[in-house]
Amino acid sequence: MGTQSDIKLIDENGLRLDGRKPGDLRPLKIQAGVLERADGSALIEWGGNKIIAAVYGPREAYPKHNQDINKAIVKARYNMAAFSVDERKRPGPDRRSIEISKVLSEALESSIMVEQFPRAQIDVFIEVIQADAGTRIAGLTASSVAIADAGIPMRDFVTGCTAGKVDGKVVLDLSKEEDNFGQADLPIAVLPRNNRIVLMQMDGDLTLEEFDQATSMIMGAIPRINEIQRSALSSRIKVQDSGGE
Ligand code: UDP
Repeated sequence: MGTQSDIKLIDENGLRLDGRKPGDLRPLKIQAGVLERADGSALIEWGGNKIIAAVYGPREAYPKHNQDINKAIVKARYNMAAFSVDERKRPGPDRRSIEISKVLSEALESSIMVEQFPRAQIDVFIEVIQADAGTRIAGLTASSVAIADAGIPMRDFVTGCTAGKVDGKVVLDLSKEEDNFGQADLPIAVLPRNNRIVLMQMDGDLTLEEFDQATSMIMGAIPRINEIQRSALSSRIKVQDSGGE
């Protein structure tokens, strides 16, 4: 969270800098099957975020001592391209991307039937091409589509959204300015069938009441986001059926 600044993020009519009401999502589009070489892939465009998720596997885990005899290991690798942000991002892993990779791996693992693939590994590469805000959630939401696109058996999708606090108000799906100059940012991801939480992080401060408000806003948006994930897959299947790529 940035420090409090003079920037006014919500106007006198309760509208945000980009004209959204507090409970509105940024525009969201997902396309499945965008890469030919990957076993599964997806491109997500969410607000100003553009992120590609590519899935490889399940394949034998290597090196062998990493294998789990009971289940597949899920390895997500989140990476921000150097040109994805205004100020050039130093290439390579940093503490932030290592942490994000870990929490995304764990969230994805809870959605995959990993017990069906002992000794295997499933790799999920998440490449942020253009970053706005909420890239971990957008990357996770795209990864789940890419995993389904790879035909890997899943219990459910992983579907996420963020909420936060800006100018003292709780709002859904923070933009970059809101993330930078707001007072809190709460990314949450769930398995939408039973709303089981598989990722929850928080940056900044919320009162208990604001936290409840933020989580209900997110839970209210999850079915819409999940619907977009599902239609990305069904359009992919339609293209395949009609002899397209
Ligand atoms: N960001 C950046 N440079 C960095 C890391 C992040 O400009 O090295 C920006 C980027 O736009 C990102 C935002 O800060 O989306 C918020 O980052 P945060 O760590 O909160 O993760 P996110 O909200 O993207 O999941």
